[in-house]
Amino acid sequence: MRILLQFPQGLKSKALEEAAKYEKEGHEVFLSATACWGACDLAIDEAKKIKADKLVHYGHAQFGDKAAKSGGVEIEYKLYPITVDLEVLRSALPLLAPYKKLGLVTTVSHLHQLDDMKKILREGDRSNPHEVLTTRGAMAILEGQVLGCDSSAADKLAGKVDALVYFGGGEFHPLGIKSKMPIFAVNPYARSARRIDEDIEKKRKREQGMLIATSQAKSIGILVSTKSGQFGLRAAESAKKKLLALGIPRVAILVTGEVDFNSLKDFNSFDAYITTACPRLVDDAERVEKPIVNLSMLPRLLQIIKETRV
Ligand code: SF4
Repeated sequence: MRILLQFPQGLKSKALEEAAKYEKEGHEVFLSATACWGACDLAIDEAKKIKADKLVHYGHAQFGDKAAKSGGVEIEYKLYPITVDLEVLRSALPLLAPYKKLGLVTTVSHLHQLDDMKKILREGDRSNPHEVLTTRGAMAILEGQVLGCDSSAADKLAGKVDALVYFGGGEFHPLGIKSKMPIFAVNPYARSARRIDEDIEKKRKREQGMLIATSQAKSIGILVSTKSGQFGLRAAESAKKKLLALGIPRVAILVTGEVDFNSLKDFNSFDAYITTACPRLVDDAERVEKPIVNLSMLPRLLQIIKETRV
């Protein structure tokens, strides 16, 4: 069988080792060398170009409950669980003591330890056990899983829990949480635990600022990515029509695979951008030196434009 192996950036160093396993079984193996940041990004076009029978995508679970259109290429998701020391969660218990009911979310890399995490939180520090709730998201379909673009496994618990615990490396994932509640990030790599809902609020305010700035723009670029799980051409076309109808002088749809901020800067023509691609591009607005808003903000944006451009 001809097989294309695809790894996210953090796992590309494992590629040769994994390739050897398939080669030993007699398969012809190819490695996708393009950047991959998420489950939204399956190398289907590359697989088709090299006439691969199968694409093996490492490190991510399926994106949403509908299988990606694979054009005849078989797709296998191979999780890459990373086992970490959970002691840091135990040491966060004093911080969590005031909250009886806790929601818990983590990334796909640590989901295999979810039951152990729950056990630690449920036991609490003996005199103070917690009730622990988890649920499933929309695009992040595994119990307790969050993605940078899908925090619904956390948001659905708002109102049902007293606080939320995110367990995992970095703060990219918890900063995407939309609901307001006490949120704690427990990081097994930095061995740290801290409350981060103030940071989330700051991010929200920054996004509001970019929304207002975009409403004043005379030229808007709408970003469309051709990545398998990000492609939003129809939504972009509909947004373009609505913006033109409200009198925005210039609106263009920009089609790309990977969004390259340097390439965007070279246009030197747009006052602001709307992304129909990865919603977390808004975090990188400084790199393109222009405001970026998510497509999900379009109704609010149109409303502001209506109210302010009489
Ligand atoms: S759309 Fe963005 S946040 Fe969502 S999985 Fe893809 S890269 Fe990650």
